[in-house]
Amino acid sequence: MRVVDPATGALLADVAPTSPAELDAAFARARTAQTAWGALPFRARGAALRRFARVLRDDAQLLTTLTAESGKPRHEAELFELLYTLELTRFYTGRRGRRALADRTQRPFLFPNKRTRVIHHARGIAAVIGPWNWPLLNNYADAVAPLVAGNAVLLKPSEFTPLTSLRVQQLWRDAGMPDGVLQVVPGDGSVGRALVERADQVFFTGSERTGRQVAKAAAERLIPAILELGGKSAMVVLADADVARAAQAAVWSAFAHSGQICIRTERVFVEAPVADAFLAACVAETAKLRHGPSADGADFDVGAMTFPPQLDHLDAQIADAKAKGARVLCGGERRRDRPGNWFAPTLLTDVTVDMRVMHEETFGPMLPVMVVPNAEEALRLTNASPLGLSGSIWSRDRAKANALARRIESGSVCVNDVLFHYLCVEAPLGGVKQSGLGRRHGEDALRQFCRVETVMEDAPVLGWISGWLARRIGFPYDQRVLGIARRAMRWLY
Ligand code: NDP
Repeated sequence: MRVVDPATGALLADVAPTSPAELDAAFARARTAQTAWGALPFRARGAALRRFARVLRDDAQLLTTLTAESGKPRHEAELFELLYTLELTRFYTGRRGRRALADRTQRPFLFPNKRTRVIHHARGIAAVIGPWNWPLLNNYADAVAPLVAGNAVLLKPSEFTPLTSLRVQQLWRDAGMPDGVLQVVPGDGSVGRALVERADQVFFTGSERTGRQVAKAAAERLIPAILELGGKSAMVVLADADVARAAQAAVWSAFAHSGQICIRTERVFVEAPVADAFLAACVAETAKLRHGPSADGADFDVGAMTFPPQLDHLDAQIADAKAKGARVLCGGERRRDRPGNWFAPTLLTDVTVDMRVMHEETFGPMLPVMVVPNAEEALRLTNASPLGLSGSIWSRDRAKANALARRIESGSVCVNDVLFHYLCVEAPLGGVKQSGLGRRHGEDALRQFCRVETVMEDAPVLGWISGWLARRIGFPYDQRVLGIARRAMRWLY
């Protein structure tokens, strides 16, 4: 697999895909390693993963590799990908992670003579299959929760950005982390398919199309699959919004990482009274963006497009929008003045819902803005999408914004903000409708990587009546017991 720097087109590395024999060996190593890793106390696994997170933090080459293969600015690599990885590790290896996985005992209401204990076991081998847009955040960082829960992980990065994960693998070995517990298996979709055919669980992040294939293959084997898929997140700007702030957020969330972020703002609905002011502010914000590195190597804001086919996709969406009457306020075409994959940050207006850019995921530096008569229409159009990953509402009236947020069919909604919620790892994040199944973040997401077992036993003190009760409720059945039970049901319920 040829890995190319999307900013320059230069070859970075040739990577050999994992062969079937290597995959067999990886599964065998993972099976053995998981037994010992899963048997460690939570604190020991947590301490090892925190130590490894510091190794990642302190490695200079990791982020250099990440920026080279993804084309994103260093700022985004460090402040999104690395910070997220450290924060997620802190959260899951800390008190709340420990409590989420601790045994829980309860006294059943109906049988106070009994108690149940819920035990969380690791499932075994988790396959983490990552996309190209976040080579660390949706690759190694997605392995953290399954590892904390005691699983071994086979991580398959995208064939376009495998180098960051391979660096993580090298650091894992050099740091003396347990052999076989985390293994990176580079390759194309066929390696992903082979993982789904053999792992005990899948954590997949990627497109809706591949997500469906993964779901089908997992269903065939009846193994759990967490699917984090695409989005068409809407920003709704109400007439009483702080327009300057909303415009700054729209531009940031649409053009950060060149628009290759799943929870990015994919479309804006702005109420008519503030539409002109909002569009003017968006144009001004977009004009300020530094697109790509300058000759003196100064900081820049918007990087290259990681995935070459995205450029054709953008061309096609723009051509379709223009043919149907959209106006290009900024950008609108590829940058041909430099090598590599560059598309100018593009602002579109006069858009309508029949344009592809308004209903297909764009996943590139394009922001279509549609003027709507009122909030109800914005809500209707927002919910018309079959995708439901994220979104935002902008208003100075927090009660009104919150009431609207509740009515948006989406896994998450920000009131007067964008993107930051991905870093709020305490709360669940994920898609509804065709944006996915399952969640990342929060305690429940950690439990997804566990096989749950309930053990019932006699409770202390009242446990002695269990034998007596079993003789009355079990064979031989007795009409008098049934009569008592009927009276009890009427009284209790
Ligand atoms: P793809 O679905 O093309 O690929 C995702 C991963 O799946 C890659 O590693 C790919 O390998 C692998 N793969 C391909 N075919 C199969 C298969 N049949 N079985 C198993 N694995 C397979 O997605 P992209 O990489 O293009 O990522 C972009 C998409 O990801 C966007 O839609 C974006 O919205 C979504 N995304 C969602 C996020 C979320 O949290 N909801 C976060 C980030 C991105 P290879 O690339 O080598 O072919």
